[in-house]
Amino acid sequence: MEIEINMINVEDGDAIILTLKKEDKKALILIDGGYKKYYPKLKKRLEELLPSFDNKIDLVICTHYDNDHIGGIEKMLDDYHQIIQEIWIHKISDTLTEQVSLMKSELDSIEKIEEEYKRFKTLAGINEHQDFLIIEGYRDLLRVSEKLIQYDLESKTKEPTRGDYLEGFEEFTVISPTAKYYNSFLHELKGETFLKDIRNNISENKMILESFEEFTDLQEIRKGIDLSTPCSRLEKSSLKNSVTATNMVSIVTLLKANDCKYLFTGDAGIETFEDQNILDEDIKNLDWLDLPHHGSKNNTSEIMLSHFNPKTVFVSARGTANRPHYLIKQCLKNKETGDNIFVTNSDEETWYLKYDENGNTERILNT
Ligand SMILES: [Zn+2]
Repeated sequence: MEIEINMINVEDGDAIILTLKKEDKKALILIDGGYKKYYPKLKKRLEELLPSFDNKIDLVICTHYDNDHIGGIEKMLDDYHQIIQEIWIHKISDTLTEQVSLMKSELDSIEKIEEEYKRFKTLAGINEHQDFLIIEGYRDLLRVSEKLIQYDLESKTKEPTRGDYLEGFEEFTVISPTAKYYNSFLHELKGETFLKDIRNNISENKMILESFEEFTDLQEIRKGIDLSTPCSRLEKSSLKNSVTATNMVSIVTLLKANDCKYLFTGDAGIETFEDQNILDEDIKNLDWLDLPHHGSKNNTSEIMLSHFNPKTVFVSARGTANRPHYLIKQCLKNKETGDNIFVTNSDEETWYLKYDENGNTERILNT
């Protein structure tokens, strides 16, 4: 099978175009759309690839609804709704119409506290924070849901669970979530708890602490702290480190072809892999791994990395000390990976990183 992975440089977000060709079949798959502001980069690459794929997008996967993944999807639907064959997206209600009305009422209540929240943010001197991104992601999901209705695409949507695959390409399967795991987060996904979390964060001044995370990491490096056992110093839980429900149920997919294994992880976390008992032979000793959550230290454990033991790692990230986290990089150095770790934005001029079935990595620069 001919395989091409195009990881667009959208900093800490995901926009990946995967193309597959075998015998008489071919497929162009889009995994997430990155932040809205980077959509032109994604579109440019799509335009280049589409003519070789009968001008069809065979599958769009919305791994989860954070705006660094779903933001570009809205614009993509405007441009390509007529040529999309199938969409994998999880819902928080039975139908998109119900989902839209639920989200509108949740957002109404958020808007009431948002002013207070913004004031706090200004006082703390923080320009950007995860909670705002959660609200933005929620708004993006609302807009994407409305577009799917507007373009009459609901019948093309599917809520994929473990074991599902792309028609004609049994090599491309869903690894996570199982329906049971997804449903265990449904209450949170509906937004009933995230409003509460945001209020708690305001009261706990948690935002200030988080903004120092990267600073502390850098200090540790400067202090020359012992890096001889980096793997054992990795996190053991995502949930205890405030990784959100929508991240934990990200659609994780596996491509198994030409005796190679390629794993696409979205922003899934440690419990996604460890609690669902899915660390089996299928995802052991990978040839290629998309590191979860842009290389955040909260989403990757020692157990995961020993199991994955990947030959090549791609990270869609800014390329700072905590994205990908230096302990993860250090741990991978002692695995099959060694120095085969490629970060999209480690060179800001990068348009996309490309990987093919022969194991070649190419960094394509903006022109
Ligand atoms: Zn993300």
